[in-house]
Amino acid sequence: MERTILVIEDEQNINDILTFSLGKEGYKTLSALDGVKGLEMALTEHPDLILLDVMLPGLDGWEVCKKVREQSQVPIIMLTAREDEVDKVLGLELGADDYITKPYSMRELAARVKANLRRSTAAAAVQDTPSDNQDTIVSGDLTINIDRYEVSKNGTVIDITLREFELLRFLAQQPGKIFSREKLLENVWGYEYYGDVRTVDVTVRRLREKIEDDPSMPKYIITKRGVGYYFNK
Ligand code: CA
Repeated sequence: MERTILVIEDEQNINDILTFSLGKEGYKTLSALDGVKGLEMALTEHPDLILLDVMLPGLDGWEVCKKVREQSQVPIIMLTAREDEVDKVLGLELGADDYITKPYSMRELAARVKANLRRSTAAAAVQDTPSDNQDTIVSGDLTINIDRYEVSKNGTVIDITLREFELLRFLAQQPGKIFSREKLLENVWGYEYYGDVRTVDVTVRRLREKIEDDPSMPKYIITKRGVGYYFNK
């Protein structure tokens, strides 16, 4: 199946290089040169993945990310210009799935695109399968349906990103076992994240806001100070 990637990047030559290279990898590409157009295309063209530059005229990348996320769970990879950790964390907080810092190699970018597409394809595929014989984890008022990539609380399905789901699943499948943030990066994110373990903290915080009654007094994902996190049995 042909996958469509939307490239939102205002520098024409970079946009051209990205769409050309992704085209060579076998993807169909769409391109937008500003945030307003990019947002419009993201919501009307239904791409399979979005590459989103941060510094854009008009609507910047953070705003586009936030607005897309209000309506769609499409994988978003932010293209950040600076090695600025605040930017990275903010990007993930707004619901981006991944980020890549310039300068990056096309090989690295292609690998990230592939990994993020694989994850979303796996999630979409299981959501299309019939709902019998499902593998679920039930804990308190939380039900984690592994096969359907679905989490519900008191019977209501929670809007959760793929990365949040994978973190929750990973912890819940080994309740009581404490994992360091480095270990979680390795297992849930799947590759070296430049040692930015705050990515884990941000994702845990977002998860808690969704699954906990009181995010400041978590019952499910517990912090073991100075060590890491674990899922409460
Ligand atoms: Ca730019």
